[in-house]
Amino acid sequence: MAVNLIWFRRDLRLHDHPALTAARARGAQVYAVFCLSELDALNARQRAFVIATLRLLRQTLDRLDASLTLLPGDAPVALSAAALRLGASHVYCTSAGGRERIAQDRAAQALRLKGIRLCTESGSLVHDPDAVADRKQAAGEGYRIFPPFYDAWKALPVVRPLPQTAPNARDADPGPLPSGALANIGVGESHAWDLLQRFLAGRAADYATNSEYPGRPATSELAPYLRFGVLSSRAVYHAVAERMSRSWTLAQERSSMEAFLRRLAQRDFFAQLAHYAPRMHDEPLQAKMRGFSWSHDAHFVRAWETGMTGYPFVDAAMRQLQAEGHVHQRAAVCAASFCVCDLGLDWRIGRDIWMRELLEADDAQCDGNWQHIAGIGSDQAAYPRIYNPVRQAQIFDSQATYVRRYCRELSRLPTQAALAPWRLERQQQTELGFFTPDQYPAPIVDHNLVARGFLARYQAYRNRSEQAGARAAESG
Ligand SMILES: Cc1cc2nc3c(=O)[nH]c(=O)nc-3n(C[C@H](O)[C@H](O)[C@H](O)COP(=O)(O)OP(=O)(O)OC[C@H]3O[C@@H](n4cnc5c(N)ncnc54)[C@H](O)[C@@H]3O)c2cc1C
Repeated sequence: MAVNLIWFRRDLRLHDHPALTAARARGAQVYAVFCLSELDALNARQRAFVIATLRLLRQTLDRLDASLTLLPGDAPVALSAAALRLGASHVYCTSAGGRERIAQDRAAQALRLKGIRLCTESGSLVHDPDAVADRKQAAGEGYRIFPPFYDAWKALPVVRPLPQTAPNARDADPGPLPSGALANIGVGESHAWDLLQRFLAGRAADYATNSEYPGRPATSELAPYLRFGVLSSRAVYHAVAERMSRSWTLAQERSSMEAFLRRLAQRDFFAQLAHYAPRMHDEPLQAKMRGFSWSHDAHFVRAWETGMTGYPFVDAAMRQLQAEGHVHQRAAVCAASFCVCDLGLDWRIGRDIWMRELLEADDAQCDGNWQHIAGIGSDQAAYPRIYNPVRQAQIFDSQATYVRRYCRELSRLPTQAALAPWRLERQQQTELGFFTPDQYPAPIVDHNLVARGFLARYQAYRNRSEQAGARAAESG
């Protein structure tokens, strides 16, 4: 009988798992393994989440008379040793992108030297990057802007999720699970499914309207489960599509669910950008913007990172990030825009802080979103996303619900003052004991002034690059 390993990575589930299904084909004996060195690339919140998820997965497999072996040491070496010890001829895994792709390639090489094959299957996205790119006239290089990608994405049929399956062999020496801090949210497949079902039964109907308002509980909160593959994005797609197709679903609810599916497409889009341009982790996707000079001002970094810029909407976002490892999308966009456009800070500084704190942190998604906001990544009309942090708060947090939740020192101020505290009369400031040094700061920059300055520098650099490019093309 064939013996295979299933190498769990960011696909910590048993449902709709193409690599696991392939490993189990033709009655093979399948051992499950996870390489502990992969925890090193995660932030502290993610490590706690993954360890708790692995603990639960282990318990589930134990009930099915199977096991989950935890391999210490360098992944390629550990995998080869485990495959030899357990007598496996093939190792199966879900194909990875970015930095995880490097580990995958190294593992394939190490296994090959021992006569063992690494077999990869898709399974992280709704559509594989190549499947979408194949619809392009110039195939093989992916899409650089979202709208045509989305058109191609929508036109493809989504593969039906595979039935649940499981490893079926028990390793006598599965190794200990490292101890970890408690995860700050629920873990495991059942929990993720419940969350999805609750979203579909409630928030999904008004998602299009409500999801832009950070004070409202309106989004799915599925990001960490999608990030670590506890939920398959194809299964999520089909669960939403099934709701949309019900005859009693209202047109308004349907368009809300459509807006949600568009978000899943955005996730696929950023993953395909990283797939075709892995260098975008370090440098702008837009060649024209390479070499643009960014600030590294430590005082600005500290104020932004700790939520002390004096702009409450930005500060609330940064404090939510630090406290919960999550930021509402609308607030995240404003905070990121303030970092690069108002403070002129290097987008990689903001990105790295996000990667250090965010539970769903992921290279492709983080790089893609940050570059988009800085106006150096995917773009249709190339310009930086400059948001007025006060106007955004007045539109999307008009009752200051979100600001008051995270900036406690502003919680007792009248609404307009909570959104722009420096506009309070000096007299009122004193009465409220407001601008004492250990309380909320005055704005560290004047948004109108610095944003205009940034835009001018951005445009000048872009024009110079375009002219240099045109001259090079003429002379070449
Ligand atoms: C600067 C910045 C950095 C980000 N970094 C990450 C990251 O590292 N990892 C990550 O998963 N998301 C990232 N996002 C996207 C987004 O903030 C979160 O995915 C979202 O807030 C998760 O909440 P939710 O699950 O309730 O989302 P919902 O609104 O319910 O959306 C459903 C799903 O769609 C996907 N999605 C939604 N918006 C985006 C988006 N803008 N880009 C990509 N996918 C999206 C997520 O998987 C999300 O779970 C970033 C956004 C910004 C502005």
